[in-house]
Amino acid sequence: MQNESLAEHLSGCDDCLEAMLEQSLGQPVPVRIPEGFARRVASQCAEPSVLPYAVAAACLLFAVLSAWLLAGGWLAGVRSLLADPTRWSAWLLAAGAVQTLALTAWLWRVART
Ligand SMILES: [Zn+2]
Repeated sequence: MQNESLAEHLSGCDDCLEAMLEQSLGQPVPVRIPEGFARRVASQCAEPSVLPYAVAAACLLFAVLSAWLLAGGWLAGVRSLLADPTRWSAWLLAAGAVQTLALTAWLWRVART
């Protein structure tokens, strides 16, 4: 009953509404910090992630290889080689297998973090 009349009054009186909000927001909310919270946060910060460096290194390697292929005029050769699977050599298949393994390992690592 008291809450209803208070709400009714506050809906029509901006001064009281503002005063009530000021008082409510000014009171500190009691918060209980979980046990070992600071230690857990600190331990997570202390563990450096190598992932961004791995991605940056992969992008850099890709850019260098692409520039190397373009500069050597080998891109057309690579394209014609990829277009004809009968010309695929053992080293190309091995490179593809290594690449697939590396990508799978990277995805597995990403999925675990
Ligand atoms: Zn009022």
